Amino acid sequence: EPVISLCNVTKVYVLPSDEVLALDDISLDIYKGEFVAIMGPSGSGKSTLMNQIGCLDVPTSGDLFIDGKNIRELNDDELTEIRRDKIGYIFQKFNLIPLLDLRENVEYPLVLKHKKRDESGYPAKLLRMVGLEDKRFKHKPVEISGGQQQRVAVGRALVNDPAILLCDEPTGNLDSKTSAQIMDILTELNRMGRTIVMVTHEDDIAEYANRKIVISDGRIVDDN
Ligand code: ADP
Ligand code: ADP
Repeated sequence: EPVISLCNVTKVYVLPSDEVLALDDISLDIYKGEFVAIMGPSGSGKSTLMNQIGCLDVPTSGDLFIDGKNIRELNDDELTEIRRDKIGYIFQKFNLIPLLDLRENVEYPLVLKHKKRDESGYPAKLLRMVGLEDKRFKHKPVEISGGQQQRVAVGRALVNDPAILLCDEPTGNLDSKTSAQIMDILTELNRMGRTIVMVTHEDDIAEYANRKIVISDGRIVDDN
């Protein structure tokens, strides 16, 4: 059974004077352990597709299944649980919280979940795993490089141990050497069994994936 399954998913944005068909009848199965790159020109529907897969938005028609569950049939609490525990999000702009230090940023999803500080040491363990040294843990995001910030963001995405990682242009703000380091971390996470779906417009970044899906005008035009 696929981890992520889209059946005839269509997404229409309704504007005051216009309608935009952003996704046009997309059907797609993604299995556990796949590393999928989503490519396509600007405006082709990549972010819209990620928003559906990430359960951040609901299709206009068609169905999305995560672990066999039709997300249309879930209530708000169940949806929150999927977003929080099943899926980790990594963004181009890192989206770290400026006022929190690095360890606190990684800990933050746990604080939201348990409504108290985390004493387990797990956030620190994740920071070490992504290659951050202990002496940096008390730094604020502005005090470290973009590559280091993205490592922290990867740590934060992992803190609830999600089976799926969604990455939207994870190396879009990074130089090529730093990009390769982030991609090596994602590759290792994929080897450990996590399913990864990544949007990128860079061919050399897409090479890290083992499946490439190209979309154009909201339709899948290539998948191999
Ligand atoms: P990509 O990520 O490939 O650049 P998007 O998914 O952002 O593509 O956009 C697909 C299409 O949907 C584009 O025509 C875009 O202008 C439109 N679109 C995206 N988000 C919205 C929105 N919130 N409201 C209206 N139109 C949108
Ligand atoms: P851009 O792609 O325009 O440079 P971002 O990467 O920060 O900007 O994200 C644009 C939008 O795409 C965000 O508003 C967010 O809702 C959505 N998005 C980004 N990454 C993901 C993701 N991993 N999963 C789901 N939605 C995402």
